[in-house]
Amino acid sequence: MYRSHTCGELRESHINSSVTLAGWVQKSRDKGFMIWVDLRDRYGITQLIFDEERTSKDLIEKTRLLGREFVIQVQGTVIERASKNPKIPTGSIEILVSNFTILNSSLTPPFTIEDETDGGDDIRMKYRYLDIRRKPVRENLIFRHQVTMAVRNYLSGKEFIEVETPYLIKSTPEGARDFVVPSRMNEGQFYALPQSPQTFKQLLMVGGMDKYFQIVKCFRDEDLRADRQPEFTQIDCEMAFVEQEDILNIFEGLTRYLLKEIKGIEIDKFPRMTYDDAMQRYGNDKPDIRFGMEFGELNEFAKHKDFTVFNSAELVVGIAIPGGNSYSRKEIDKLIDWVRRPQVGALGMVYSRCNDDGTFKSSVDKFYDQGDLANWAKVTGAKTGDLICVLSGEINKVRAQLSALRMELADRLGLRKTNEFAPLWVLDFPLLELDEETGHYHAMHHPFTAPKPGQMELLDTDPGAVKANAYDLVLNGNEIGGGSIRIHDKQMQATMLRHLGFSAEDAKAQFGFLMDAFEYGAPPHGGLAFGLDRLVAILGGQETIRDFIAFPKNNSGRDIMIDAPAFIANDQLKELSIKLDIQK
Ligand code: ASP
Repeated sequence: MYRSHTCGELRESHINSSVTLAGWVQKSRDKGFMIWVDLRDRYGITQLIFDEERTSKDLIEKTRLLGREFVIQVQGTVIERASKNPKIPTGSIEILVSNFTILNSSLTPPFTIEDETDGGDDIRMKYRYLDIRRKPVRENLIFRHQVTMAVRNYLSGKEFIEVETPYLIKSTPEGARDFVVPSRMNEGQFYALPQSPQTFKQLLMVGGMDKYFQIVKCFRDEDLRADRQPEFTQIDCEMAFVEQEDILNIFEGLTRYLLKEIKGIEIDKFPRMTYDDAMQRYGNDKPDIRFGMEFGELNEFAKHKDFTVFNSAELVVGIAIPGGNSYSRKEIDKLIDWVRRPQVGALGMVYSRCNDDGTFKSSVDKFYDQGDLANWAKVTGAKTGDLICVLSGEINKVRAQLSALRMELADRLGLRKTNEFAPLWVLDFPLLELDEETGHYHAMHHPFTAPKPGQMELLDTDPGAVKANAYDLVLNGNEIGGGSIRIHDKQMQATMLRHLGFSAEDAKAQFGFLMDAFEYGAPPHGGLAFGLDRLVAILGGQETIRDFIAFPKNNSGRDIMIDAPAFIANDQLKELSIKLDIQK
């Protein structure tokens, strides 16, 4: 038996018991006549004590050989601590050691294995196994486990069946590039790793599974934006014989259950908003509604004077920053610089101060009088003491810019509280999205999403206006889930693919299996998928998903611990019939 107890288990009630513990040496303090060692395992830290009076000389000498992160097994007696440490659960006791065995030695770790470490990101990733010994990382992984257990509990309780779908498949388009895997046995042919199990879960519905879920890895070869991972985990779900309302109810229930179980927070019915409203009110399809600062559209009160910047703009739109009138001129200039950064891209910013005496002082007083500015305040909901910030330009761009400013200011004002949770359904997404570069439409969600009833006809005349039976679940300004009611009719799926630019041949080659299945009694169905990594991070009150993944990749998609991706041997390439056109 390696241990009788864990390092997090012993209390005053165990005093006088003989115990065996095993773990890592976190640190030792040597006072000459007395040595203390902190022994750590997954469950906590227990203090070991060796002293001249009660411990043999040999053992004391052996203790002096211990370095940080040595693995030891210890026998001893639980005794009361002279000076207790109320900060840790085992802080009232210590182990008077009678003997110990070194199970393994350790090199000095390249960073301190403590809650606060001196290791930078890169070094911690390279030695991730050491990082995982640190409490914050370990607790995040345990937290993730608790979330996934709760998810499985809830869904299983609602008669969902977890079914595994294959990883070596053919492309399932979710808007990214595929990772591909060469097939040795089929020369020149490749599998694609799933961007999601989308088509398989639909086939499970055709197969009569009725309610499916899977906690599953998905792979997307995207240019990595901050805090994205090329492989990530979804809670993927699908149901047959359902309408949108049924799906919203079930997964609102799941989210409510998680908030209750994991955070102890009870939330009533989730608010709902259409995509169009979200864009108009927040400039964003995943608005953070924990705070106000809603957009006020100002065209009517801004385009009637001689200010050409506004007159030539498609949209003039503003927000009120609470208490912003206290900003100095210099601070406002800095804000203007901020919106002009290339990442935000505004050309400039107009502002109006809402003074205590009810007057306004704007950066465009030359053009606008107090009456105009009062209207701006009214539309943006600005109060005395606020600062109205106004951007103008092309509608989509200016909304995105103002949304960025809104989030930045909310961060600065501390309005995005991590212990406050504001879920929101965003509904009625457009079916298609125009790709500005190519001028082509592509599916905003994916090609299997059904248009709202009666909208199919619009596809020919006004494709951009077609609304889909598609929905997102937003939590604190993050999209945590998204899904749709699917097409389950072969003809309709073929028409959709044609509108997305697939030739009949390509459509058949890529999605023939799905459309064929639709001919054998495909039930109406729909579903959604949650992004597990982000959901866990938000529930954990943290920003980065990396902190909740055991072995994440860095911003260039590399695993720097195992050094992947890597070149492979020529023999292996040959076996796969692959000729590389690059120089190593
Ligand atoms: N497959 C979709 C996605 O990965 C989710 C869904 O439509 O159920 O976003």
